[in-house]
Amino acid sequence: MAAPLIGHDLAPLDGALIDRRGRRVRDLRISVTDRCNFRCVYCMPKSVFDHEYNFLPRANLLSFEEIFRVAHIFVDHGVEKIRITGGEPLLRRHIENLIEKLAKLPVELTLTTNGSLLAKKARALKDAGLTRVTVSLDGIDDAVFKRMNDVDYPVGDVLDGIEAAAAAGLAPIKVNCVVKRGSNDDQILPLARHFRNSGHILRFIEFMDVGSSNGWRMDEVLPSADVIARIHEEFPLEAIDANYHGEVAERWRYKDGAGEIGVISSVTQAFCSTCTRIRLSTEGQLYTCLFAQGGHDLRGALRRGAGDEQLRRVIAAVWRERDDRYSEIRTAATALPDAPGKIEMSYIGG
Ligand code: SAM
Ligand code: SF4
Ligand code: SF4
Repeated sequence: MAAPLIGHDLAPLDGALIDRRGRRVRDLRISVTDRCNFRCVYCMPKSVFDHEYNFLPRANLLSFEEIFRVAHIFVDHGVEKIRITGGEPLLRRHIENLIEKLAKLPVELTLTTNGSLLAKKARALKDAGLTRVTVSLDGIDDAVFKRMNDVDYPVGDVLDGIEAAAAAGLAPIKVNCVVKRGSNDDQILPLARHFRNSGHILRFIEFMDVGSSNGWRMDEVLPSADVIARIHEEFPLEAIDANYHGEVAERWRYKDGAGEIGVISSVTQAFCSTCTRIRLSTEGQLYTCLFAQGGHDLRGALRRGAGDEQLRRVIAAVWRERDDRYSEIRTAATALPDAPGKIEMSYIGG
């Protein structure tokens, strides 16, 4: 899976960090664990992630010190946003200690969570310096939500987590729903009704062909255009401008002033041309695309005692060689679950 780092072009570091398609690096996503207490059907189906599944041993995980070193270098290279993810990031022990370290960097620091531990941890996360939180929520009906997380986890506890995060000041909160046609698309309107006037930003994500275990099929993708049409019929919407160049979500607002929603159309409207994201996996592999077939091993370099300048050059070389645009060139063949080289989302970090 890992590409050797030797042989990269270690050219001088003058000038901005731009990849082969003219994109600069702006967002770093850091996966802090490959484990999760949910078994969402589109991400870690029980049939694959069962009690025999080999999660990473502890020694393979990057330490908080190692993560901080890498993050620091990325910030020097122009990263403005860091997102902590996983797996379920709140399962990583003492995660607030990592937040506290990263909060010293001049970045927007956010975290994506399934919300199950948020009621307990929101205050500590805020005190540690977290800027905002994104909570995944695939239904508002308890039975549908339980079916999606597949561990019988009640929706009420996640809603409590969202409120605790809001009370702690981790706002505005983004609430993400992955839509799987025929599984939870009946939740679109109930979710919209629930979050109107709440100040939280509800976003619908198209079901993606990440990894090889979620049994992805095109006919289970509900295009974002249909999501917008369904909501617009009950609550008229109008499009609004992106907050910044390269924003992933397309923004809409209720015409009656009840707030904002968003859609992320990775399948039907690829946004690779403005993709400024890079991912650091739980065990220190650097991935330049969610669908990359291999990573670049930073942990090896870190543990062999590489200095900051050496790491800086390696990272620069990885970004400058980047040519990814998977979603633009996705075909029926590459999207097949058994297409070679597909890496699970819980490993690479969503
Ligand atoms: N466990 C945390 C959570 O669920 O928020 C963070 C990690 S999860 C991998 C990050 C995001 O990826 C979640 O919002 C999840 O819904 C999304 N995701 C996972 N598998 C997906 C898929 N096949 N298609 C679209 N989004 C997916
Ligand atoms: Fe866990 Fe998040 Fe994947 Fe669901 S989407 S199984 S909560 S990592
Ligand atoms: Fe970025 Fe890869 Fe997703 Fe395209 S497919 S938007 S390059 S992560």
